[in-house]
Amino acid sequence: MSNKNTKMSLSKATNVAEEINNIDTTEKKANDKISSKKKNVPNSKILNLIKEQQKARKDAELKADEEAKENQRLQEESDRKKQEELVLLKKKHEKKREAKKKRIQRQKQEGLYLTKEQREKHYRAQIQFESLGIHVPPRTNIQQSGIQKRILYNDFQKTNSTCITTPLTEDEDSSDENSDEENICNEDSVQTKDILRAPVICVLGHVDAGKTTILDNLRRTHVQDNEAGGITQQMGATNVPLDTIVERTKMSRKLISRQGDFMIPGLLIIDTPGHAIFQNLRSRGSSLCDLAILVVDIMNGLQAQTIESIRLLIDRQTPFIIALNKIDLLYGWKSNKEKDVESVLEEQDSFTQDHFEKRYDEIIVQFAKQGLNVALYYKNPNPNEYYSMVPTSARSGDGMGSLIAMIVETSQTNLAKHISYTNELQATVMEVKAIHGLGTTIDVALINGCLSVGDKIIVGGQEGPIVTQIRRLLIPESNQELRDTNQYENKDKVMGTCVVKIAARDLEKSLAGLPLFMARTHDEIDYFKNEIELILTTVLNSFKLKDNGVYIQASTLGSLEAFLELLKIQKIPCSGVNIGPVHRKDVLRASTQLENDIKWATILAFDVKIEKDAQDYAKTMGVKIFQNDEIYNLCSMYVAYQNQLIKENQEKYRHLAVFPCKLKILPQNIFNSRDPIICGVRIEDGFIKIGTPICVPSKDGIDLGRIASIEMNHKSLDIARKGSEVCIKIVSTTNDTAKMYGRHFDKDDILMSKISRESIDIVKAYFRDEMQESDWRLIIELKKIFNIV
Ligand code: GDP
Repeated sequence: MSNKNTKMSLSKATNVAEEINNIDTTEKKANDKISSKKKNVPNSKILNLIKEQQKARKDAELKADEEAKENQRLQEESDRKKQEELVLLKKKHEKKREAKKKRIQRQKQEGLYLTKEQREKHYRAQIQFESLGIHVPPRTNIQQSGIQKRILYNDFQKTNSTCITTPLTEDEDSSDENSDEENICNEDSVQTKDILRAPVICVLGHVDAGKTTILDNLRRTHVQDNEAGGITQQMGATNVPLDTIVERTKMSRKLISRQGDFMIPGLLIIDTPGHAIFQNLRSRGSSLCDLAILVVDIMNGLQAQTIESIRLLIDRQTPFIIALNKIDLLYGWKSNKEKDVESVLEEQDSFTQDHFEKRYDEIIVQFAKQGLNVALYYKNPNPNEYYSMVPTSARSGDGMGSLIAMIVETSQTNLAKHISYTNELQATVMEVKAIHGLGTTIDVALINGCLSVGDKIIVGGQEGPIVTQIRRLLIPESNQELRDTNQYENKDKVMGTCVVKIAARDLEKSLAGLPLFMARTHDEIDYFKNEIELILTTVLNSFKLKDNGVYIQASTLGSLEAFLELLKIQKIPCSGVNIGPVHRKDVLRASTQLENDIKWATILAFDVKIEKDAQDYAKTMGVKIFQNDEIYNLCSMYVAYQNQLIKENQEKYRHLAVFPCKLKILPQNIFNSRDPIICGVRIEDGFIKIGTPICVPSKDGIDLGRIASIEMNHKSLDIARKGSEVCIKIVSTTNDTAKMYGRHFDKDDILMSKISRESIDIVKAYFRDEMQESDWRLIIELKKIFNIV
């Protein structure tokens, strides 16, 4: 720069000199002219010209002087700048060296530091492992850049419990820590391809396989005891910070150290329930989920919900690790949670090992039947083809460190691309909760992007989208499930991936299960409001509602979905749904079912309040409301009510119910041929009951009367089914002339029960339980014979 200035000044000075030369030449010429003219007459014009030229020469000299001074000043300034740059550079180097020193010191303390020599040794060991047939996972691009280093985002970690980190090679260290932190927070400058966020982990499996206990162990909490009915009903989440992971995986460091270091800043564990009825809630969990833990009880192997979970994970293409849980139940198991489970297994007695092998082999076959290859994590020949299995005991803690290490390893290798941080906001409202002193708050899973106090957010609401401003951002203390903790830290800004509680105005009617958007302009607000409305309509329309059925009211979208799933299994149709407290208008909507059947004029209120006016209105209208906070109880309450109604109706309509039958007369057993007719019959199809009206369709449908008694081997019966040979007594119920065997009908006529439209409807409504599939087929046949439409 300074050279350039100097060059410019020199060329200018040359120009000035040339200019002066020109002036001199012109002056000389003028003088010559004057002297030649002096001889004649002095001219004033010529004098003026001389004066002008002299003035121009003085000006040019002055200009040259100034240029020279400016030149000198620029030169001095450039020298000073050079000096300053040098000092800055020195300081920067100094700072980098200091940071590197600190990092190495910390890694040494954590036992993570590897010298160049150790690294080479480590890789040689890997090659050896591979030559012995022990799998070493393929190196990813990130790995290829050298040993990955965790950057000390200390301040940033203070902002988030599971913050993002940037992998760097030891030799690179191209920027100092502060500038990295700035990069992370400055939305425009994030180098997303190298930054990993915390992976979102879900736990799936059959009921009682130990999902909650595994989660408890990972978090070292006891959520299971607090769950209503002992099952996980709604989504919860826990931030597990890196410090905890580092501490928990001490014994399995060799797994992670293949990659050199921890690149993920932590884990976000979403607690998704495994019961079949939670299919939708679980799917919601899965869609947030980057990596799943499929829990299999080693004693029971694959069970119904394990298989269902596998299908779900495969459908959603969610990678998973299998936790082969409850190994402490193997014969003579000796627990040691301080060691990698591979060594713990090796140290077991031979009979324990045999027991393990037996169970393991069976489970491998069961997985193979599902089309999956599985292998123990330390024997996995190819993680792209085989799912890794980690033996665990959530109860004793054996293998839990290895499981976490596998989660870290899988996240940092196969999932690295998937969990790279992006600036685009990706957040889902998980729960809406009223908190004393804060008002209604929302718990949000923030996967990517930033949220700050003061941001304008848009969330779904019971009465349309809600636009509000973040007042407070609260994060639970590390390792604490958001549902359980009452202790929060206030934050000004949070970044993915974490769970955060947001306090803001107007959140009372917000809905869980929908995305959260952030907007800066009015246009953006309008856009996202539309977006939320569209999503909610799509979700509500996706529920298959029936014309006749109960009305469901739930607190969140997730619980509504879960409840509908349970009702589907129980074959209880649903005609309407809503979210939030039961209002008068809900009762009005439910009351429309009174026209169809009183049993459908019912509101099932799951985990929601019932407004006083709604209660009163329901009484007036005759609408029944059941309320409970436990999904199964609520369902049982309704089933009990339905059964009670059926019983009442059965009593009321029993005399009108006609069951289908086809009877062949046994001519050798005619005991009385006229009213009451007593004869032997073989039941060709259907069944007979006392009270069944009997007719002869082949003889213009003449009525014989109703069955008054049934006997078999001198024993009275209330009912006799297809294939039986019984003696029946038919008593005439009309005043018509009694019909006589041999005159009005004979052995060739088939006797049938006299059904009608009304009797069919009654059987359908109240006596379904007593009918078999073949009975319904016979009803169809009889309908044709009796011309019933
Ligand atoms: P979930 O329904 O899958 O969430 O299963 P839970 O975590 O509620 O566990 C069901 C039962 O199994 C509880 O009684 C647990 O104490 C027990 N359990 C869970 N994990 C283990 C384990 O590793 N070993 C043994 N022995 N019992 C376990």
